Amino acid sequence: MNPPVLDISGLSIRFSGRTDPVLALREVGLSVQAGEIVGIVGESGSGKSTLALAVMRLLATGASVTAGSVRFEGKDILALPEADMRKLRGAGMAMVFQDPMTALNPVLPIGTQMMDVLFRDPALSRADKRARAVAALKRVGLPDAEQQLGRYLFQFSGGMRQRIAIAMALLQRPRLLIADEITTALDVTLEAQILDLLRDLRDEIGCSILFISHNLGAIAAICDRTVVLYAGEVIEAGPTAKILGAARHPYTKALLACDPSRIEIPTRNLPVIPGEVPDLSAPPKGCIFAARCPAALSRCVTHRPVKSLVGRDHSVRCHLIEGAAE
Ligand code: SF4
Repeated sequence: MNPPVLDISGLSIRFSGRTDPVLALREVGLSVQAGEIVGIVGESGSGKSTLALAVMRLLATGASVTAGSVRFEGKDILALPEADMRKLRGAGMAMVFQDPMTALNPVLPIGTQMMDVLFRDPALSRADKRARAVAALKRVGLPDAEQQLGRYLFQFSGGMRQRIAIAMALLQRPRLLIADEITTALDVTLEAQILDLLRDLRDEIGCSILFISHNLGAIAAICDRTVVLYAGEVIEAGPTAKILGAARHPYTKALLACDPSRIEIPTRNLPVIPGEVPDLSAPPKGCIFAARCPAALSRCVTHRPVKSLVGRDHSVRCHLIEGAAE
């Protein structure tokens, strides 16, 4: 197998502020191969966005990497000078956020913002940049692309805004696209269109995609492999068909049981996972899910489970799983 485009190993991140430090990610590991779409799924607060921002090296002040590495095409991202990182963002890796109204600039026409993305390429004339922006908008399905360049974000619908954000992220044909909850604010029809668009663009450009979502339907529709995060830890990872069709970790099973699309009898009271995510300023000594786990054993409270392999490509962090320790 070729070396991965993205390789995260043992990544731990701590947030410090006025309160006790919070251990937002602990020993997170995952890889993304060329052309692969890898999903990250978990409840709010599981660390999905922190992970994405760490890859882009855009973490807020107060966040620090306490252990581990992030390698992009073999380069240690965490050790790169900021000037090199700036060159990498956009051309090497790009990110699309949940809300284009806050991620993009609402007081600049979209054409100006798109041409600004290309400002570092001295070989491109203004006309070239304009042509590239028009082509990108056409590619994501914006009608009358030439005329749209002078319009502002508020003049577009939610689905069109997200298409514009995707066009902007792909202007420099990055090798890795990070999509952070990009369909969360959209209805199911628009969501399906955006997922189709992402898949087509991956096939055209050949980029890899890190697809972050709490929506299991979206994960099922687009991801080759899926990583389940809970309270900052990877608790299960493997091919999407195995994670969604033959989950082994009690947390993944609980997530699936709460998925509205899998509930057979219509109800107004959607199931939830009882209990709360643990206080990450003082994570439990044993299993991170022990306080909410219906299958917990006494050793779950005292001993942290190791990551075990179930078969060749499916890993689970749970005492119930007897596999080869990874
Ligand atoms: Fe549940 Fe124990 Fe497995 Fe944790 S290690 S998920 S508490 S059974």
